[in-house]
Amino acid sequence: MREMRTKRQLWVSVAQRLVCESAEHVGCPECGTPALQVRDMEYGWGTGRGIERYLVCSHCQAYNSVNLRRAGPLADTRLMAAE
Ligand SMILES: [Zn+2]
Repeated sequence: MREMRTKRQLWVSVAQRLVCESAEHVGCPECGTPALQVRDMEYGWGTGRGIERYLVCSHCQAYNSVNLRRAGPLADTRLMAAE
């Protein structure tokens, strides 16, 4: 089991958790405070559709965006199930 995780992977896993968990239960990857604000932008059409999820921490102002379509097979399945 690998414990080494990049910042990018942390943001991706947070974005995935926010698919099914409330933002008040998911801590910011930078400061650990559950103060993330989520904004989803749908893009594309047909088979190219996906969601760009923007995450902003209202506590430390950390910011990142994650393309859920490319975030991994798990997020992919959930997105397809939600449609
Ligand atoms: Zn933060």
